[in-house]
This record gives sequence, C-alpha cells and structure tokens, in this order.
Amino acid sequence: MVGDLYVVATPIGNLGDMVPRAVETLQSVDVIAAEDTRHSKKLLDYFGISTPLFSYHDQGAEKQQTRILDTLQSNKSVALISDAGTPLISDPGYRLVRQARKLGVNIIPIPGSCAAIAALSAAGLPSDRFVFEGFPPARREKRLNYLTGLATETRTLIFYEAPHRVLETLQDLAVVMGENREAVVGREITKAYETFLCGTLGELQQQVAEDPNQRRGEIVIMVRGAESDIREQSDEEQRRVLALLAKELPLKKAAALTAEITGGNKKALYQLGVSLKETE
Ligand code: SAM
Repeated sequence: MVGDLYVVATPIGNLGDMVPRAVETLQSVDVIAAEDTRHSKKLLDYFGISTPLFSYHDQGAEKQQTRILDTLQSNKSVALISDAGTPLISDPGYRLVRQARKLGVNIIPIPGSCAAIAALSAAGLPSDRFVFEGFPPARREKRLNYLTGLATETRTLIFYEAPHRVLETLQDLAVVMGENREAVVGREITKAYETFLCGTLGELQQQVAEDPNQRRGEIVIMVRGAESDIREQSDEEQRRVLALLAKELPLKKAAALTAEITGGNKKALYQLGVSLKETE
C-alpha cells in the first residue's frame, strides 16, 4: 500500500484564489512538501493549516526526494506545493512526480492559479493554440539565439520573466520577431498593481523603458505567433508559377511543371488553373 500524492496549486498573489479543495487537502494530508517551507508557512498559517512541512527541490535533492517517497511508501499521503501557483510549472516537482508515478503512487492534481494561464485568459491574444516557454535564458547571447529559434512559431508564445530583465527581453523579442509583432505584458496579476500592457513589441519596449514601475513585480510576456504564412507563402508561390507557365503552355503541362517546381499536387494545381481561367 502506498499513500497518495496531491499536487496542489496555491494563489499567485491573491489569497482569495485559494480553492476550498486545496485547503481541505492541505489540512488532511500527513505531510506537505514545499519549495520554501518558511514562505509556505505564512500561507498555511493564514488558512489555519498545521500539517508538518518537508522541504523539496528538484535540484540535487536526492535526500529530500527519498524522504518523501519513503513517506508515500509507508502509506502516508503527501501534498506538494510551490511558493506560488501550480507546482512543476517553472517550479519544483517534476522529478518527484515522475519517481512517484514509477512507484505506482496515485497522483492527484488539485488545480488552481497558474500565472501563464491567468495572463493568457486576459491578454486578448489567440488562445486556441499556445506554447509556454517558461523563463528565457538570462544571458543576452543565449537569449537571442533561443528567441531566433522561436521567430516562426505560429502559436501564441508565453514567457515568464524577471522584472530586471523584462526590458532587455522585450528589446530582443523586437529585434528577432520585428517591432510590429503584437504582444501583451501581464504584471502583478491578481495583486493590487495588476497591469496589462498591450501593443506592438516596439510600443511595449518604449512604455517599459519610460516607466520604471513596469519593471517591478512579477511578469508574464505574451507574444502573438508569427502569421501562418509559410503555407500561405507556398500557396502564393504555386499560384504565381502556375499563372506564368499557363500563359505559355497548355494547362495540363503547366500544372505538371508547377507541381515539379513547387512540390505541389498536380491534380490540385490543374483544378486551380481551371478555376483561375474561369475567373479571368
Ligand atoms: N508555478 C508558478 C505558476 O503556476 O505560474 C510560476 C512560478 S515561477 C518560479 C514565477 C514566475 O511566474 C514569475 O517570475 C513570473 O514570471 C510569473 N508569475 C508568478 N506570479 C505572477 C503574477 N501574480 N503576475 C505575473 N506573473 C507572475
């Protein structure tokens, strides 16, 4: 028999966002594994929770992990929390959850706040498809390289960033993705100074440079994905080649040659040629 492991989200600023099920779970488990026990103690005191706390980090924490896994294996239940938001999301927990799963532990998520999702839900950027990238590299050279690799990503991009790096990162994003790319900076979400700045990367860079308050607190940067023009571009290229060749050759031949040149489908190009001729 092994105990259950609960992965419990806690508020990202506003204590009113603590869900009742999280309070009940933290009250009823045998042990709470926390990223920073001193930090979490304040949250637990606020909700009158006196469950014993263990410390847990992903990095170099063999002993901490063994202690928690042993606890689970002695049929005791554990709740994992991080300093704020959802554990494992740019926070410790991945290694523990993975190991626990290997041991057959039942892992139960107690969902709640997550800065990335809260930010996206209010940004007004396309939210049907998005990529969460966590923190970009801190060093400029690495960051530029890394952002270059994301320049043609068509899904909305979500980054966490430290306040002292937000301006540099916005500048680098503008360099790599263009000043005109739409973006939103969500700051201090759910807290007293919650702000959402919306505009182009060029505009946001300027606003953040001019107002030091925009370089304070906790920050999520979201960038609209690149236009899905790779496909559109290739469609356009096919049309262009087909139109040129069709002026000089019979349509069947023009479609076959266009397919060869652009990698398109011969039949579809022939049909396209027919419909283009009809609309001439
Ligand atoms: N696990 C957390 C979550 O679920 O969002 C994230 C932890 S990560 C160490 C902390 C980063 O999340 C901050 O540096 C900031 O980028 C973002 N963040 C956390 N709380 C935030 C808030 N209230 N407003 C804006 N961003 C926040």
